[in-house]
Amino acid sequence: MTTENENQRMANEHAEIAARMGHVKHKILVLSGKGGVGKSTVAANLALSLASRGAKVGLLDVDLHGPSIPQLLGVSASPEHVITSDDETALLRPVSAGPNLCVMSTAFLLEDRDAAVIWRGPMKHKVIKQFLKDVAWGDLDYLIVDSPPGTGDEPLAVVQLLENATGAVIVTTPQELAISDVRKCVDFCRKLALPVLGVVENMSGFVCPSCGERVDVFKSGGGESMAASLKVPFLSRIPIDPLLVKAGDDGTSYLECFPETETAQAFETAIAKIVSKTEPTEDVGEQNKRRDEMMIAIPLTDGKLSAHFGHCETFAMIETDKENKSITSTEMVEPPPHEPGLLPRWLAEKGATMIIAGGMGSRAQNLFKQQKISVVVGAPADSPEAIVSAYLKGALVSGENVCDH
Ligand code: ADP
Repeated sequence: MTTENENQRMANEHAEIAARMGHVKHKILVLSGKGGVGKSTVAANLALSLASRGAKVGLLDVDLHGPSIPQLLGVSASPEHVITSDDETALLRPVSAGPNLCVMSTAFLLEDRDAAVIWRGPMKHKVIKQFLKDVAWGDLDYLIVDSPPGTGDEPLAVVQLLENATGAVIVTTPQELAISDVRKCVDFCRKLALPVLGVVENMSGFVCPSCGERVDVFKSGGGESMAASLKVPFLSRIPIDPLLVKAGDDGTSYLECFPETETAQAFETAIAKIVSKTEPTEDVGEQNKRRDEMMIAIPLTDGKLSAHFGHCETFAMIETDKENKSITSTEMVEPPPHEPGLLPRWLAEKGATMIIAGGMGSRAQNLFKQQKISVVVGAPADSPEAIVSAYLKGALVSGENVCDH
């Protein structure tokens, strides 16, 4: 084949990839410097969590030598070939891993899953190209790519072939040996102009389930200080939880089964930050502008806004007059005993359309949004009337979300 033909073929392939990937809003690579740090676990849980929030998600496992995503998600079917009607190209159909989530992995294409895969660079490049070009991904909000560890052929091929990936999430464990490789990952991203969405420090301590004492098995905080020194965002410290290993081995969703654990909440913190970097959420300023009919719920302790809404003593239910920007009535109600996920439902039944809180984790925020209750966080520990008046005047000053896990 002449060089001219070869160039044309490559240009056509790039155009085909661009056309298929044009249906994907955000493409996120999950990278790590070393194997065994929990990169695939983070990729799988990120995908599951985004899908559970209603986003359409594809998860591509290009860890060609150790594809573990199908195992982690409990899927094993081989993708069937399908024929598209428009251009008659044979496409691979990704495998469904539950509502809103589909998966493609080398594991689906291997006849013997226990055989070692010996592929040279050009072959790897070809397989990755096919995964991007010849898989019927359809319209996706997110394509999460689980890359093999390191900064070798596969992540390089993905970044080059995607051309406009949204960014990378870098997973590390806290000990020196692992985090020194974070530098290489960040350097890799910078050389390829790939934005770093942030660093996740996984296996960051172990909380004893019987006594609650925290043991820093691999030290703690190394990933965070490395992220700070490299000036890249830090997403979360995820503690070790043996239940996460079991969920991975069983192919069940850890975040769905154990949402209240410290580890699940740390995952949610990372995921919420990633979401906010890709789809900016409405901020207080925006919400101040949106004044429909409102019944505002304020969690209180000792008559002032409570930092931890889940354990507050009372809720002030404040009805407002949107025209006059004034409070029309205030009622104090006692919440039911604490039970995960109950408050959003209970407040919706009471007619709340908004909750103003000091701090709130992303999972809880999601549950309120599902109940059509908008959420404002970072409000000061003031009286409920003062908070609502400030809000109605568009003068509520929001601080830090004091509980962003
Ligand atoms: P990698 O993709 O970096 O090679 P994996 O995601 O396959 O790593 O994880 C390696 C092993 O560590 C898996 O058995 C996984 O369940 C386990 N693991 C990952 N993160 C945690 C954690 N925070 N707590 C406990 N086990 C974990």
